[in-house]
Amino acid sequence: MRAAAPAGTELVEAARALDAAGFMPQKSGNLSLRDSDGFLVTPSGLPYAAMTAEDLVRCGLDGAVRGGGRPSSEWRLHAAIYRARPEAMAVVHTHSPMATALSCARHPIPPIHYMITLAGEGGRRGIPCASHATFGTEALAQEAVAALGDGLRATLLANHGVVALGATLAGALALVREVENLATQYLALRAAGIAPVLLSDAELAEAAAMLGDYGRPV
Ligand SMILES: [Zn+2]
Repeated sequence: MRAAAPAGTELVEAARALDAAGFMPQKSGNLSLRDSDGFLVTPSGLPYAAMTAEDLVRCGLDGAVRGGGRPSSEWRLHAAIYRARPEAMAVVHTHSPMATALSCARHPIPPIHYMITLAGEGGRRGIPCASHATFGTEALAQEAVAALGDGLRATLLANHGVVALGATLAGALALVREVENLATQYLALRAAGIAPVLLSDAELAEAAAMLGDYGRPV
């Protein structure tokens, strides 16, 4: 068995829940958890319904596989985020429908709702869309890291999907679900031809303080 059972089980259950919610069409998306000197990541090409904790793959931060298995084709994205953001303990990448639709226009999600502050202080400027790079490449990983900067915890990936990080797996999961909510709300307004009124920095700061996690990872 390659994976520590509790963390591995938690990761597989999370992947299945996102798949059931329609966030992982065609076996897309991938999840990981940081461990002592690398990360535990979902495998390449395996249906989530058939996945067990034993199928998870251990990688070093350089991508070296430890103990066998074939990691997700997006392992570079996970590795780059763990290297760039020491506070990241979990990374979740999805192709959730509405956020992915917006990514296909390379359009950020503006600050239309206070829940955007879950994405961190950078959320006050909205959730950006990273520049395009081919899936599975180091270039994609670097574009994502650049879009996330020092303080943001989620970004769209151009013509591709979403990636989020968290200090916990639960935090990263909550964030990818919220990004999908925000994209759905924003696209509903656009579809209705209604222009949103954006929250001001002061309004967002106050909301974030009320949420109680402003400025620190969820
Ligand atoms: Zn993807």
